[in-house]
Amino acid sequence: MSFAIQHSTLRDLYDKVVVGERLSDADALRLFESKDINAVGAIADFARQRKVGNRASYILNRYINYSNYCILSCQFCSFARKKRDADGFELTIEQMVQKAREALALGITELHIVGGLHPSLPFSYYVDFLKALKALDPRLQLKCFTAIEILHLAWLAKKSVEETLLELKAAGLESLTGGGAEIFRKEVRHAIARGKESAEEYLTVHRAWHRLGGRSTCTMLFGHVEKLEDRVHHLSLLRALQDETHGFTGFVALPYQPENNDIPVRVPPTGFDQLRTIAVSRLYLDNFDHITAYWVGMGLKLAQVALSYGADDLHGTIVEEHIFHMAGAKSPQLQTEAEMVKAIREAGRTPVQRNTFYEAVREWPTEAAEVAAPTNSVKSKVLERNLATA
Ligand code: SF4
Repeated sequence: MSFAIQHSTLRDLYDKVVVGERLSDADALRLFESKDINAVGAIADFARQRKVGNRASYILNRYINYSNYCILSCQFCSFARKKRDADGFELTIEQMVQKAREALALGITELHIVGGLHPSLPFSYYVDFLKALKALDPRLQLKCFTAIEILHLAWLAKKSVEETLLELKAAGLESLTGGGAEIFRKEVRHAIARGKESAEEYLTVHRAWHRLGGRSTCTMLFGHVEKLEDRVHHLSLLRALQDETHGFTGFVALPYQPENNDIPVRVPPTGFDQLRTIAVSRLYLDNFDHITAYWVGMGLKLAQVALSYGADDLHGTIVEEHIFHMAGAKSPQLQTEAEMVKAIREAGRTPVQRNTFYEAVREWPTEAAEVAAPTNSVKSKVLERNLATA
């Protein structure tokens, strides 16, 4: 037991974690309210080590936003545009294929694709882009759409959510993204994302996908107008669905970015709050294997530290990110594989390249293995060059 835990008032929670007793909502709130970040982090680090051992992962992926036009106007959103806006965009399927082809040449294994709720694109556009992208390489994993997009597509297709998901699955969809969860509490949702799907609808889409054999991630957007109790409530609904379906592969805590939107919050969540939120997520979500430190929102330096506060994943190379950067994120557009491997190695973990389902693609057991892998350094250089063209 670490010194930090031994002399902490949170010692009883550590004892619960050690014997595998589930933390209550009140326990989670105590952790969120604690100023003893070292003790919270040490307990989470213990739980992380016991769950996944010494490995920490990253993925070679590329984001594609097919469009930022959206029929909704969530108050917190800096990404959505109307057709009258000069900086709105939509990609043709050929443009998406071109971006995917370039990324495949860099060795990516996953495309992560989301967009706004487009006012006029037909359902066939979504089915056709899945098929076109899958045809490039059947090994390319397509992680696409948030829950609200699925509801929008079901409305377009005039089909049930299940039928819509089945059709998308047949076209190549392999995982849903976790975006759009925000904070589930109704009053908070109304304040930041009026008009968006309810918590129940978000969970219904993921439940339906899981029952069809699909997997997905889930998220929480924190650090805006919500209370700490709202975060616990949010996590409790995710934990309950995971108990029911076991369909979530991982959880991603998303620190709110305050620029260019209508929410009166001027300062993003502090580093302290981000680390503590990741640690509490690891401890409370005891039925989740993987907790991601999202470098786009946190910056790679803090995400690296989060590897000692319960996180076991740094997310991916990404290559081109719009949503967080339009909201003021100061992180770069991409990370090279070499940078993520170095960050993981320095944190004392064994770097593991993973696929969409967090299965190992390649492990870097020693530093010598990295040096002896010429494709890795080439890939890093190509990715760096790609920044100019993204
Ligand atoms: S958060 Fe999503 S649904 Fe809401 S306005 Fe932005 S793009 Fe549209």
